[in-house]
Amino acid sequence: MIFRTTNPRTTRPALRKVRTTTSLRPLHHRLDPARVEEIPFHAPDGVRLGLTRIDSGDGDRPAVLLLHGHTASADMFLLPETRNLVDVLLDEGYEPWLLDWRGSCRLPYNETGRRYTYDDVALHDIPEAVRHIRTRIGDRPLFAVAHCIGSLTLSLSMTAGLVPGLAGVVSQGVFLTPKLAGRTSLRMSLAGELLKSRIDHIPVDFRKVGLWSKYTPLFALASRKATCPDPTCQILHNSAWGTGASLFVHEHLTDTTHNRLAELLGPAPLWILPHLRRIELARTVVRWHDTDHRYRALPQNALDAAARIDTPVLLLAGSENGLWLDSQKLCRDVLAHRQPQLDVTYTEIPGYGHLDTFLGRGAALDVFGHILDFLGERR
Ligand SMILES: [Zn+2]
Repeated sequence: MIFRTTNPRTTRPALRKVRTTTSLRPLHHRLDPARVEEIPFHAPDGVRLGLTRIDSGDGDRPAVLLLHGHTASADMFLLPETRNLVDVLLDEGYEPWLLDWRGSCRLPYNETGRRYTYDDVALHDIPEAVRHIRTRIGDRPLFAVAHCIGSLTLSLSMTAGLVPGLAGVVSQGVFLTPKLAGRTSLRMSLAGELLKSRIDHIPVDFRKVGLWSKYTPLFALASRKATCPDPTCQILHNSAWGTGASLFVHEHLTDTTHNRLAELLGPAPLWILPHLRRIELARTVVRWHDTDHRYRALPQNALDAAARIDTPVLLLAGSENGLWLDSQKLCRDVLAHRQPQLDVTYTEIPGYGHLDTFLGRGAALDVFGHILDFLGERR
């Protein structure tokens, strides 16, 4: 049927759908579907997560686990519109594995369902994913490339000794020493206080939400001095969900990527802010659960436990990172002083912000070469 008749019973405005299913939203990619193996699994606390293995047809390759940032998903490494990190890894002889941890926008937990803290990601999601991968790859080397909160939580897993024996780790944006811009820090606490009684997550797709809603003050804040008219772009580029930070250098995104930002980055839960705030105030990754014995495997302070890191680490950051500033440079300096035996290097990407180090049209040329050099020296 080419023309669909309108059913009068469905012409009323539809209520906004809230996702409650725990099945993963389909990945958006251009790979042969036969090469993409989706592996749903449960974290030890029962939360359903997803791993994706990109099959190269060659069972001898070193594996690389890719960890997305909070509210992003595995999609951020597979953009069909650019030469993406999965393309580059496949061409260079690696087997990419992508984890959708519980903060993925391919899963519903940021918006509905069970609340969590970053302790759960570090204790459950990442170690369980590593266990799954190791059962499949045997004694082949396993690397990790992690972005933003994916990297911050990986640092907590590593310093807890929960993912020993990785062949190397590439950390983008932030690792053991999170440092936010002053205005971001202030707004984060203000937003948490002011908004928590009214909303529990911040949407990004303002084309669906509409500008006149309980989110209007937030949008008004985000749109101040904005040069791009797209409200979703404003809330991300100009405001980073209302925190006042910037997530990417605008001109680094292709039009296609720019127009699908609401698909690449989902709603941000406000109930995660107290943990993030505690981490930011401590200037290191600290666990949230002080007295709950179920989390005792995690160090109270990841920086103090950094001696447990048993693998080389490459710290990457764009010189214009508008969210975590020079956290990575600080991390290199602090570790060089406190743990000089560790193999930690820092590489700055000139002119890049935060997310554009993976989503940018030129990331394959400007960023991924540094990752390949690091992996290549250790494979
Ligand atoms: Zn824009």
